[in-house]
Amino acid sequence: MPSETKAAETFVEKPKTLAELRGDLAAGRVKATDLAARYYERIEEVNPRLNVYLSLTKERALEQAARVDAATAKGDPLGVLAGIPVGIKDVLVMKGAPATAGSKILEGYRPPYDATAVSKLEAAGAVLLGKLNCDEFAMGSSNENSAYGPVRNPVDTERVPGGSSGGSAAAVAANMAVATLGSDTGGSIRQPASFCGVVGVLPTYGRVSRYGLIAFASSLDRVGPFAANVRDAATMLGVIAGQDPKDATSSPAPVPDYAVESDKGAEGLRIGVPAEYFAEGLDPEVRAAIEKGIDSLKAAGCAVKRVGLPHTRYAIPTYYLVATAEASANLARFDGVRYGYRSPASDTLSAMYSHSRDEGFGAEVKRRILLGTYALSAGYYDAYYLKAQQVRRLLAEEYLRAFAEVDAIVTPTAPMAAFRLGEKTGDPLAMYLADIYTVTASLAGICGVTVPCGATQAGLPVGMQVLAAHLNEGTAFRVARAVEAAQS
Ligand code: GLN
Repeated sequence: MPSETKAAETFVEKPKTLAELRGDLAAGRVKATDLAARYYERIEEVNPRLNVYLSLTKERALEQAARVDAATAKGDPLGVLAGIPVGIKDVLVMKGAPATAGSKILEGYRPPYDATAVSKLEAAGAVLLGKLNCDEFAMGSSNENSAYGPVRNPVDTERVPGGSSGGSAAAVAANMAVATLGSDTGGSIRQPASFCGVVGVLPTYGRVSRYGLIAFASSLDRVGPFAANVRDAATMLGVIAGQDPKDATSSPAPVPDYAVESDKGAEGLRIGVPAEYFAEGLDPEVRAAIEKGIDSLKAAGCAVKRVGLPHTRYAIPTYYLVATAEASANLARFDGVRYGYRSPASDTLSAMYSHSRDEGFGAEVKRRILLGTYALSAGYYDAYYLKAQQVRRLLAEEYLRAFAEVDAIVTPTAPMAAFRLGEKTGDPLAMYLADIYTVTASLAGICGVTVPCGATQAGLPVGMQVLAAHLNEGTAFRVARAVEAAQS
């Protein structure tokens, strides 16, 4: 065993709640410009250690904060996020700001437009502080695949924050933003939120526009929020949700007031517990914490029963076929011509393409492009891609049957708490297996929330995943609130 070289540090600090901050701003106890300045001080202080932000958007943030202060002074009505400092995962574009997606191939790229989720936050008054580190093109479970270095977990700097939205989770855990946006294709919001001890939301597929999200696997990609508590996460989702003419897959369903939904209590809700998520491979300390969380749901008046999700064992191969196939197609656009990095010395056009891709993409991204291209190739399409789509359908139907009997399903978010930096980088399969509990909901298109639910003896956070049927985010929030209320 290698000896511990450096003492782990901790940078955990809980942000104030939206309600507290709103009160402070409305009463004039703090100005939005001062709040933004304070957050930039905090970032300057801890970012060198945690590597959470890749770039800052100070000018835009301070202008927005000044607009909020002017509106407050005039007594104009304020948006629900007026003056609230927020961070954005670097796979979402902001006009004129760097958007690297954690990749060298996008170095120097400055998109000419805002993602819909970004403009909705700003329209609600949020102050956008900057862009957050992540795994390259959101491919990873530990944030160690970023071309700009890993994020460190604020709970224990020798550990990973999870991935791919590691920066988004760590920013909230270390109070470098009050809330953040991330993306989740196979677990990238839920797993880092659980590793860092914050709340993360997987909205139903289509609930939040993907316009301006740099695509990984388009049939799986979702944009969603992180916050320090369930109610604030619900408020954030309410702001970014809704149909968008710029995303044909966005849902026309009306957007409920999720914060109010989350206030309704969990009493009388039927909760399903799938045995498949408590089997071999689950860390006993994580299991114990989740079982305690389930007991707290019983105490809150929920009816807990077993449900069966037998196809879960096919979820990892299915996900890693569908996701890599779509990624291989989506990443074809990075050719050294249109965006970012171009290899300097090539004699021919095709050499320029291949050198740019060879030098611009990291190892994991290349592995996925190879796997995905193989799965889609003429001779193997039926055996791999088509078969994976069929299994995906079975997984989705299995969830539908379960949700006919229960209102929500609870599971551990990940089979383990945050692991050490470097612990899994040599074994991609071990890294993929860390996604076992999150990829099923991704494939099925359903929604979920991860909420802090106890800790290991070493003090590492454990997250409970609360899943609900399509467009039933409100139910997931109610259950998560009950779990949250039982912590302390
Ligand atoms: N860890 C999973 C992967 O590497 C999920 C990533 C994500 O949700 N973006 O594909």
